[in-house]
Amino acid sequence: MLLWMGILGMAVPNFDVLIVGAGPAGSSAAKAAALKGVEVALVEEHPRVGEPEHCAGLIHERDLKNLGGYPERLVEARVREVKLVVGSRAELWLKQDFTVLDRRGFDEFLALEAVKAGAKLYTGWRAEGMEANGGGLREPVKVKVKDVSGGGGDSYVASKMVVGADGFKCGVGRWFGIKPEMELATCIQSWVKPNPLSSSRVMEVYLGREYAPGGYAWIVPSSNDTAKIGLGVRGVREPAIAYWRRLLERWKGLEVERVIGHCVPLSGPLERTYGDGFLLAGDAAGQVVPSSGAGIATSITCGGIAGEVAAEYVMGNLDEEEGLSRYERLWRARLGGKFQACLEIRRLLESVEPGEVEAIRDAFGHIGTLDFSPTKLLGPAVKLLVKRRSLIRLLPLLFKARRHGFF
Ligand SMILES: Cc1cc2nc3c(=O)[nH]c(=O)nc-3n(C[C@H](O)[C@H](O)[C@H](O)COP(=O)(O)OP(=O)(O)OC[C@H]3O[C@@H](n4cnc5c(N)ncnc54)[C@H](O)[C@@H]3O)c2cc1C
Repeated sequence: MLLWMGILGMAVPNFDVLIVGAGPAGSSAAKAAALKGVEVALVEEHPRVGEPEHCAGLIHERDLKNLGGYPERLVEARVREVKLVVGSRAELWLKQDFTVLDRRGFDEFLALEAVKAGAKLYTGWRAEGMEANGGGLREPVKVKVKDVSGGGGDSYVASKMVVGADGFKCGVGRWFGIKPEMELATCIQSWVKPNPLSSSRVMEVYLGREYAPGGYAWIVPSSNDTAKIGLGVRGVREPAIAYWRRLLERWKGLEVERVIGHCVPLSGPLERTYGDGFLLAGDAAGQVVPSSGAGIATSITCGGIAGEVAAEYVMGNLDEEEGLSRYERLWRARLGGKFQACLEIRRLLESVEPGEVEAIRDAFGHIGTLDFSPTKLLGPAVKLLVKRRSLIRLLPLLFKARRHGFF
């Protein structure tokens, strides 16, 4: 990959758009801005893009198609059915089409696309803070960057526009005075072998306090012989790793190759994702599907919009009145409805009492694999209501899931 590691250490280079973080949001923003012909710097603190990997790599086929091409070598598995284990006994099967990506390779691929479009990628540099500019429109800000690849030197980069794509900690947003009030799930994920799933076309999801309070646990195939086992929890007394250890006891004789810990925002997007001279994209903006914690596709979409709007801003092409709020208007038009619906789905799911789980399983379990088609939903839904009137509150969940998906 073409790198520009050394250059930041020299004078104060000037850019039109500085993007902090080379995850899916940052690389997509960098590509979109560079394609508009402006000077783009993409700064990543880790020495290698995609590392450390902190993701299961699941993406819905529908989303992957919308995102355009990707190399087949990045596909680890294709999942066609999800086994949902609720509490200690209830099981449901959902028909869903997911691709499991090699997330490390996928992030590298996206960064390379940005470089091919003309962005300059600096790895091993951490953006640490900002000096206010003179207050003039499109006047560059000076951002302090530190060489964290071993050199240890400090330097400055000047840029007319900053895109914060630096993940859930939202460091760039904080420099600009944003107080990111996000509800975070703490996640632990391990890579294991052999693969305990019956097939590489199946994944399993575990819901319930005994597995992952405030979240869920998953086992996703990464090949015929390997799998990723992880969970996300919220509002717990024990550390997340304790839940992961108990989860792993379900399968005997697994070899754990590596384990990571990371957080994911689950409360939906921030109220405001732009301000004078900056935009926020991806996890940094809370642009994650609240019912699943999925953020690959949404980060790419929002990052792409951020890159385009940032470039239009520095070129002076934005409508004076609308300004950078254009970014927020565009991403909300694409994804605002989905984020809101999936937040409601999550809250409805959290309202299910242990005693109600069996009634749901009895109503839906016998139909085999649930595909959310109205003809399959109607019969079980009526049965459910006859058994437990209180569950009428869950009906919107089915229809929202059908319209927006829940991942
Ligand atoms: C365990 C786990 C499993 C997940 N599984 C899935 C899944 O299966 N499917 C899915 O869709 N989503 C999943 N997610 C969510 C998904 O990983 C994120 O939503 C997605 O990575 C967000 O992309 P991003 O570019 O916004 O942020 P990130 O991918 O977090 O990228 C941010 C980048 O910024 C860099 N950075 C941070 N601060 C600085 C700085 N100061 N200077 C320079 N660089 C900086 C970081 O090193 C990082 O590379 C999962 C999350 C977790 C924690």
